[in-house]
Amino acid sequence: MAAAWVLTVLALIGVIAGGVLGQSKTISAHLAAAGGGVLSGICLFWLIPEIAETSGFAFALALTVIAGAALVALDRVLAHTGHSPRHGMVGPLLLATAIHSFLDGWSVRALATKPLAGIAVPIGLALHKIPEGLAIGWITRKAIGSTARAILASGAVELLTVIGAIVEPPAESSGAAVFGERWTAAVLTIVGGSFLFLGFHTVVSERKKVGVMPVFAMAFGVVGLFAWVHGRGG
Ligand SMILES: [Zn+2]
Repeated sequence: MAAAWVLTVLALIGVIAGGVLGQSKTISAHLAAAGGGVLSGICLFWLIPEIAETSGFAFALALTVIAGAALVALDRVLAHTGHSPRHGMVGPLLLATAIHSFLDGWSVRALATKPLAGIAVPIGLALHKIPEGLAIGWITRKAIGSTARAILASGAVELLTVIGAIVEPPAESSGAAVFGERWTAAVLTIVGGSFLFLGFHTVVSERKKVGVMPVFAMAFGVVGLFAWVHGRGG
């Protein structure tokens, strides 16, 4: 639970910085790339193998990629609906960020007890939270023209990280009671998909910035190496 609060505080720092100062794009892109690399690695080397235990590797990979693609599509639809910041159409983007933050909080809590992922996931998520906060704070301020209201709105959306973490344990136990193993596999699929989405987002939108791809590759490689050395770690 502490991890979810740390993530939220990081995002709020980003929101305030973005709302007040605007965006520092280079540092942002590199932090996000490191986070994206770590999370994509966790998805590939930990989550998909775990899902594969109930459904087989090919099926696990396909399902996770589909979940990630669905999140990319949802993000595109919502971001494009709100594509004209001058007209105050920032609602859809805030909604997309709310869903996403909820998943951030859910993921960090759901994976907290796993030996290596329990450490790597908070680090990966922490790395992307400041850039995420910066971006949403900055875009919202441009859209609604008020720094205070932008910080309030973006901050409220980022607080869903904590809500996701609060909701996870009771949802997990009742879901597992009703659906058994399939519940866990489904949750891991969505969490893995959201990690892939973050990785994809970094690679696709920031790839041309100097150093972004090496940082992504390095973070991904380090996670891969850990997975290889320690096994999946449960
Ligand atoms: Zn996030």
